Amino acid sequence: MESFDVVVVGAGLAGLQTALSLGERKFRILLIDRKPSLNRSIHTTGIFVRRTLEDFDLPDDCLGPAVRNVTLYSPARRSMDLVSPHDEFRVGRMAQLYQRLLQKCIRTGVEWSPTTKYIEHTKLNDELTLYIETEGQPRCVRTRYLVGADGATSQTGAALKLDSNREWIVGVEEVLDGVPLNGPPRFHCFLDPHVAPGYLAWIVHDGEQVHLGVGGYPSRFDPLKALREFRNSVDNIVDLSNAKLIERRGGRIPVGGVLRRIANEHGLLVGDAAGAVSPLTAGGLDPCMRLSAFAARVIGDYLETGDRDTLSSYSGELFRARFVSRLWMRRVLSAVQSPALIELGCALFRLPVFDSFAWHIFFGRGSFPDVQRPTVVKPTVFSTG
Ligand SMILES: Cc1cc2nc3c(=O)[nH]c(=O)nc-3n(C[C@H](O)[C@H](O)[C@H](O)COP(=O)(O)OP(=O)(O)OC[C@H]3O[C@@H](n4cnc5c(N)ncnc54)[C@H](O)[C@@H]3O)c2cc1C
Repeated sequence: MESFDVVVVGAGLAGLQTALSLGERKFRILLIDRKPSLNRSIHTTGIFVRRTLEDFDLPDDCLGPAVRNVTLYSPARRSMDLVSPHDEFRVGRMAQLYQRLLQKCIRTGVEWSPTTKYIEHTKLNDELTLYIETEGQPRCVRTRYLVGADGATSQTGAALKLDSNREWIVGVEEVLDGVPLNGPPRFHCFLDPHVAPGYLAWIVHDGEQVHLGVGGYPSRFDPLKALREFRNSVDNIVDLSNAKLIERRGGRIPVGGVLRRIANEHGLLVGDAAGAVSPLTAGGLDPCMRLSAFAARVIGDYLETGDRDTLSSYSGELFRARFVSRLWMRRVLSAVQSPALIELGCALFRLPVFDSFAWHIFFGRGSFPDVQRPTVVKPTVFSTG
């Protein structure tokens, strides 16, 4: 039976980043995804924020032009413009970016297995036997450690008896081409409980591509109907008469905050599987990058030393404290359903005393917390069973 140090389930941004960091440390890694190709079923708009762009070396040709302008719309479509002196956002060309990261993984020695589904695992001494299916054919591999990077409804997380996401919103969007840009690249955000209950509707036009989408609590709206209504209501904002549909995207976004129990001696969770998404903005790409880099350090040290204490630093409790205010704002966003109240809130935002609050939400530099942990230097005692 093939044997690996780590099997990473899921090759989204979190899985790719974790596999890459572990591959660079020369561990034997198997990366699997149920998709045949990473350009299929992408479920993110791909907006990267300034701090991610500054702290991580994302390939320039996998990112669209910079966006500095934001327009926030109230339910009655009263607008408020915010302009940053910095390049605040860039929309990732995600198929290209995933592919580039995958090539880097393969160059470091990561074994890549597409069309491969995680089914279940059993424990044998300190190792796991993994039952997976490649192109419908059953296959067994052994691994010392398992990483669940399999998204918001993580099957690996449940099988590892770790915590699961319980609260999410649903987002759907269209990626369009052939839409003229009037003025600078712009991120239009719409607070409208009718088409986006508890979240936002958005149009991002970076000069090359347009992403037009809606998000909200699934029990309160029909996402595809809301997307159609939203698209039909933005004639005066973008000219979609010659727009060509390139792609449809959608998926669940966990918004309950980082889960508490995200690691044990057999495996850990990263990305959406760990609930690592900002409860307020629903941004998950920065957390994917930061939490995955941290996870890879923890796993590497654990595999090298066999010291289970190493894993205690990988706890959701460490991150949750940083998200208290954002979790409260999520509660408020979720509770306020009256358009009149939201209109009032937007009117307040336009007052000079409160506009810095709106500025802070869109351009603030509060990303997912970086966790620094001293490197553990201990003799190797890990048993390979
Ligand atoms: C519509 C939408 C727009 C968004 N826009 C933004 C944005 O602009 N900016 C931002 O910061 N965040 C955004 N988010 C959130 C962000 O996209 C996610 O937080 C992030 O992509 C999560 O990455 P991930 O690698 O954890 O999970 P995913 O990207 O979901 O990857 C999980 C992978 O696991 C695979 N998988 C699942 N189960 C199995 C299995 N049993 N076996 C094998 N493979 C499996 C899946 O095929 C998938 O490839 C958005 C989310 C949505 C839904």
